[in-house]
Amino acid sequence: MNNETTASVTVIGLGLMGRALAGAFLKAGHTTTVWNRTAGKADELVGLGARLAPTVGDALRASTLTIICLTDYQAVYELLDGSALTGTTLLNLTSGSSGQARDAAHWATERGARYLDGAIMAAPPAIGTAEAVLLHSGPQADFDACAPVLEALGTLTYLGADHGLAALYDVAGLTMMWSVLNAWLQGTAMLRTAGVDAATFAPFARTIAAGVADWLPGYAEQIDRGAYPAEVSALATDVRAMAHLIEEAEALGVNAELPQLIKAMADRSIAAGHGGEQYPVLIEEFGKPR
Ligand code: NAP
Repeated sequence: MNNETTASVTVIGLGLMGRALAGAFLKAGHTTTVWNRTAGKADELVGLGARLAPTVGDALRASTLTIICLTDYQAVYELLDGSALTGTTLLNLTSGSSGQARDAAHWATERGARYLDGAIMAAPPAIGTAEAVLLHSGPQADFDACAPVLEALGTLTYLGADHGLAALYDVAGLTMMWSVLNAWLQGTAMLRTAGVDAATFAPFARTIAAGVADWLPGYAEQIDRGAYPAEVSALATDVRAMAHLIEEAEALGVNAELPQLIKAMADRSIAAGHGGEQYPVLIEEFGKPR
C-alpha cells in the first residue's frame, strides 16, 4: 500500500459515516469495494465507481485494507465471526470503549488479521477534509502501512500501540467538548436574566475559554509532577468564588447544579487537606470513583 498514489480499500458498513468514508476514498481515486447489510445503501457509491461485493467474504478478499464502521462492536463480531481474516489489515472505526477495542484486537489477531482501532472525531460531512480528525491506535508499522490511503479521510493521528488509546482519547475529547459547552450555557443562562443575549456573550466566553486553554501546559506539568504549589491562586480562594457563583445562580433563578457539582468536588479536596494548593490538585478527586 505504501508506495502507491492510489490503492485498494474495502469499506464494510455504509451507514451515514461508512458512506462518507467510502465516498472520500473514491474521491481520492482509490479502488473502493463496499458491502452493507442493506445493499441499497451502496447505490449512490456504486454510481460514483465503488465496487459492491456480493458477500462480506468477497469484500474482505477484495483489498488488504478493510475499514469497518458499524453501530457497535457487537455488530462487528456478529458480522465477521466465521470470516477468514488472515492477511487482512482491519481498521475498526466503530465507536466503543477502550476495553472493547482491546478485546477486538485480541479477537482479530487470533484470526490472523492485523488490527487497528480508530475513532472519528467528526461528523460525516467533514470526512475528506482536514477538519475531520481520525484517531488510531495499534501497531505503528500497521498504521504506517495504511496511512497513505487513510489520508483521504482527513487529519490522521496515531496515538500508540495500545489498541484502547483511540477510544480513550475519543471520550477525553468528548468531556472537553461538553464541559466547555456546559460552562458557556451556564454563563449564558445567567446573563440572559439581564437581557444579554447568547451572541453578545459568545465572543467574551470564547476569550475566557482560550485563556484557560493556555493554562493547560503548566497545570499538566503540576499534575505529572504530583505537586501543586499555589503559584496563582489557592483552591480555598477558588471555592469562595464557586460559592459566589452558586449564590448568584440561585438568586437569578437559573440552574445551579453544575457549579454545585464543581464546588462539592473542591470541598472534598479541601477536606482532604488541599486548600492551600492549586486547582489541578482536583485531579485526585477526578481520578477516583464516586
Ligand atoms: P448508522 O447510520 O446508524 O449506520 C450503522 C451501520 O451499521 C449500518 O451500515 C448498518 O447496516 C450497520 N449495522 C448495524 N448492525 C449491524 C449488524 N448486526 N450487521 C451488519 N451491519 C450492521 O450509523 P453511523 O452514523 O454510520 O455510525 C457508525 C459508527 O460511526 C458508530 O459507531 C458511530 O458512533 C460512529 N461515528 C458516527 C459519527 C456520525 O456523526 N454519524 C461520528 C463519529 C463516529 P444497515 O444499513 O443494514 O442497517
